[in-house]
Amino acid sequence: MLRNGVDDAAQRESLIEQIRAKGVRDERVLDAIRQTPRHLFVPESHRQYAYLDHALPIGEGQTISQPSLVAQMTQILELTGNENVLEIGTGSGYQTAILRRLSMRLTTIERFPRLTLQAYRNLQSLNLPPITFVMGDGTCGFPPYAPYDCILVTAGAPPKIPQPLLDQLSPNGGKLLLPLGSREYQLLTRVTKHGTRIRAKTFGECMFVPLIGKYGWQPDEVEPWRRQSR
Ligand code: SAH
Repeated sequence: MLRNGVDDAAQRESLIEQIRAKGVRDERVLDAIRQTPRHLFVPESHRQYAYLDHALPIGEGQTISQPSLVAQMTQILELTGNENVLEIGTGSGYQTAILRRLSMRLTTIERFPRLTLQAYRNLQSLNLPPITFVMGDGTCGFPPYAPYDCILVTAGAPPKIPQPLLDQLSPNGGKLLLPLGSREYQLLTRVTKHGTRIRAKTFGECMFVPLIGKYGWQPDEVEPWRRQSR
């Protein structure tokens, strides 16, 4: 637990041990987690849980992802520091910070403007290199900076991969990592593109909030209160 609401390096180390135990061995990823104070990305009401390996609410019905999952996804991308990366689902900005430490250029898209603003503020104090924030539908990607070496989707997509994301992926080994499946459960899937050839590999089950957009779930499929009564 976070004592007195103050960050505690010992708590972060114990979180890192839990993440290591879940199979994350890439020291660069673990270092990025070590350098990123997660409590800054969690609302004050939940700060005492910031260094537990749990997803936590961040408003708008969304969550900051579980840290071990953030670490696993980052490890799967095998970033070397030279990549042009697109993140879809900025949320709290926590995964954004981790990606920014390990890449050359980062663009992040969020559909809730309030979360983008909050993430922007959360990230300001970290003195990271510039990040491009986009408010809008990430299922359409972001063509101005394509092609991307890596695209990470941090919300659960329906079984059909959004075509714009495949189109905006670099043909020289570009990697798209996304949870694919039903609204409740998904399979973490990495798609690699060589020329026009696409290869997919799965990395186990996960549970994400839904990816809502033109090439994702439709709002009335996942947010029933939006259904029009006739
Ligand atoms: N990486 C974030 C995860 C947030 S949860 C974190 O750890 O904080 C997933 C986020 O994806 C939510 O903020 C949700 O609003 C966003 N999202 C869902 N569909 C989206 C879309 N089509 N475009 C952009 N963001 C989307």
